[in-house]
Amino acid sequence: MRPLSNRTETFSDSIIRRMTRISDECGAINLSQGFPDFDPPKAMTDRLVEVAKEGPHQYAVTWGAQNFREAVARKQEHFSGMKINPNEEIVVTCGSTEAMMAAMMSVVNPGDKVVVFSPFYENYGADAILSGAEPIYVPLVPPEFNFDPEVLEDAFRLGAKALILCNPSNPSGKVFTREELQLIADLAIRYDAYVITDEVYEHIIYAPNKHTYLATLPGMRERTIICNSLSKTYSITGWRLGYVIASPEIIDRVRKVHDFLTVGAAAPLMEAAVVGLNMPDAYYEELAAHYAHMKAVFTDGLRDLGMSFTDPQGAYFVLVDITPFRKKEESDYEFCVRMIRETGVAAVPGSSFFREDVNHLMRLHFAKSDEVLYEALNRMERLKMS
Ligand code: GLN
Repeated sequence: MRPLSNRTETFSDSIIRRMTRISDECGAINLSQGFPDFDPPKAMTDRLVEVAKEGPHQYAVTWGAQNFREAVARKQEHFSGMKINPNEEIVVTCGSTEAMMAAMMSVVNPGDKVVVFSPFYENYGADAILSGAEPIYVPLVPPEFNFDPEVLEDAFRLGAKALILCNPSNPSGKVFTREELQLIADLAIRYDAYVITDEVYEHIIYAPNKHTYLATLPGMRERTIICNSLSKTYSITGWRLGYVIASPEIIDRVRKVHDFLTVGAAAPLMEAAVVGLNMPDAYYEELAAHYAHMKAVFTDGLRDLGMSFTDPQGAYFVLVDITPFRKKEESDYEFCVRMIRETGVAAVPGSSFFREDVNHLMRLHFAKSDEVLYEALNRMERLKMS
């Protein structure tokens, strides 16, 4: 048989999703792949029941149902002040995973260089390989996850065509300050590069941090491709609803990629999700307060266990130092598999997020009910004994 494609040979399956499979096999508490164990807003699921009876059940227009795009435009304007034309500047996708891939396919040619901050969400590596881009990794240096502006400029000097910005950032929990974003914007403009943003955690922010939309900085609207999703904001990771917001010129390209990749997001789910997009401010305030609570429960527990970890400014992950618990010669991956088997808690090995040789971290998420978090913390106590 002839070899299969080179582009699918060079990367592994997602470690995040693999850890979920191992966790499920072992019946563990899954703190690896980030998704909540609580329900979406009732108004959305009630609407979904109505939609099941009333439809739509057939294709929506390929770039997303009109009312859904209008609701996205309204929400984005409300939170960012950006004026968006729902008919020319939005494509609705199957999650932000498709949004990112479609953005990359629309922006880069094979061989183009793309700046990726490390640690990074593992999909970006695969997105780069599938679109033929060559990633240039710029370290976000722990514990603050700051970057060196000189190192970033060096990456642009190498001719980077685009930068991927995950803000708030997975897995570091970093929320980029306005000053940092201004620095990125200045370089993008000076070196004529695009910025593809992944802003899925925009509403999961811990005070006093604030989310700044890079696209709102002067000169950035036309060179920013915003990728986002409803997964985290409305606790509907399984609905697979995401979107891209960009200038009409860019959206024209994204539409074509999306059209041939997936045709469209699920019509009934778009219809039901409009209820979410139209939620009042109080909804987002409650969401943030709920996450602040879960973060407090989990990080207080980790502190009581004497663990050392990153305290996130946004998103819902912590990177925990596994050095005291790891056996000699054991990789972080082997440690995480053993932790699932021996303690019944699943995490993602840190090395799957870092370009640098980092082998002493695991990522845990805390989008779970209090009982589950307390039980996970109890179980992790066993790590100290093993
Ligand atoms: N963003 C979440 C994580 O990092 C889930 C990603 C996914 O599996 N689509 O765990």
